Amino acid sequence: MNSKEFRRQAHALVDWMADYVESIEDRPVKASVAPGEIAGRLPASGPEAGESMDTILEDFREIILPGMTHWQHPMFMAYFPANSSYASVLAEMLTATLGAQCMSWETSPAAAELEGRVMRWLREWLGLPAEFEGVIQDTASTATLCALLSARERATGFAVNNRGFAGQGDRRFAIYCSTEAHSSIEKDVRIAGFGSAALRKIAVDGDFAMRADALAERIAADRAEGVTPLCVIAALGTTSSTAIDPIEAIGEICADQGIWLHVDAAYAGTALLLPECRWMLGSAEHVDSFVVNPHKWMATNFDCTAYFVRNVESLVRTFEIQPEYLKTRADEHVRNYRDWGIQLGRRFRALKLWFVMRSFGLEGLQTMLRRHIEYGRWLAETLDAHPAFERLAPAPLNCVCFRWLPPGTHDEATIEKANQALLAEIQDGGELYLTHTRLDGRYVLRIVPGQTRVERRHVESAWQLVLNAADTVSNR
Ligand SMILES: *Cc1c(COP(=O)(O)O)cnc(C)c1O
Repeated sequence: MNSKEFRRQAHALVDWMADYVESIEDRPVKASVAPGEIAGRLPASGPEAGESMDTILEDFREIILPGMTHWQHPMFMAYFPANSSYASVLAEMLTATLGAQCMSWETSPAAAELEGRVMRWLREWLGLPAEFEGVIQDTASTATLCALLSARERATGFAVNNRGFAGQGDRRFAIYCSTEAHSSIEKDVRIAGFGSAALRKIAVDGDFAMRADALAERIAADRAEGVTPLCVIAALGTTSSTAIDPIEAIGEICADQGIWLHVDAAYAGTALLLPECRWMLGSAEHVDSFVVNPHKWMATNFDCTAYFVRNVESLVRTFEIQPEYLKTRADEHVRNYRDWGIQLGRRFRALKLWFVMRSFGLEGLQTMLRRHIEYGRWLAETLDAHPAFERLAPAPLNCVCFRWLPPGTHDEATIEKANQALLAEIQDGGELYLTHTRLDGRYVLRIVPGQTRVERRHVESAWQLVLNAADTVSNR
């Protein structure tokens, strides 16, 4: 392809992109293809000769799009959102065009300096402590792994990096999170070499938040058995129900015991942009590290994870390796973000965050979040007022957990079956996408109105679709 052809295709594509966004509601929000259906429409082997862009784009529209779930659809109320925005897309186009590696300052000086600056802006906007410094990572899973590795190295004087756990003799470590914590934590505990058995899943209270007293007890029991408590991972917004662990109380315990405190605020952390939500964190005095995903609720398309640490030295000492071919003359005076995480090669992700932060401004983002939280409140009240529905967890933000209680049904197994049927009916309808979870053993539906362009009318229509689906299932 030459530049003339690129220009022609790119102009047409931008029009297609705008049309896609404008008409997204005409598409089913969730793909309804069978496993293997899309692969079956693709050639088994790649083409010998190059093909025209017209043909490729035609196949994109005909084969790929029908197999896509539309995460930017305002009726996407499943999982948590993975939001994009026009500003973010424009930056992503530039990032791809520059195609720069942002591993060292010297390989992309502006990218390194912009990353430092937008992380500082974000730290201020979120009300995080001024000592915190941030770095952009690919996902919260990775950021939490970085926290665990840093905690491991701090606790062992950076010895595991050199000799592995073999050098630790009989020393055993424990990591703590609640029973409601995200699955990435257990995965990270495995990858970091502790093994799942080192992870203590602490009981939660009636609101699904970690019980600080149960945490303290378990830490004491571990100490009594000669186990070293290493790290507590507190959730600021669990994935099932956005439960908020008592971070201040947990922080007191960690400070007292010399335990690393990592806060997983992957989704709900964005709400700290609102002063009225700062109670969720309280004083972050004893927090060592904090992760939030602008790629969830902050209009910045995947991937963009902000990882903040109190002490950059324990991060950099954990990850720094200096092969000859990566040394530059600037090293003493600059930040080389390759030493702030796992990846060497890094995309220029700061650009899209910068575009989003400037294009929306703090006020624009706050307005969006307040709208979404208001939708959540409306849904919670509407569910509470309806005799055939039950809400199963507090909804501090816009994630509402509920179930249907078909009139006359009382036993748990029947209720669960009815809710599974209700969810299948909703998902197959293609107009609304919800997903489920389990809370306290119960099968629960979740609704999260948080897509960048979701409006009140979508939320009202979502509720109507839930009622209609319940009618359909009842009348079977
Ligand atoms: C989404 C989520 C994660 C995982 O985020 P990734 O960026 O996909 O790794 C971790 N913790 C919580 C609480 C989440 O909601």
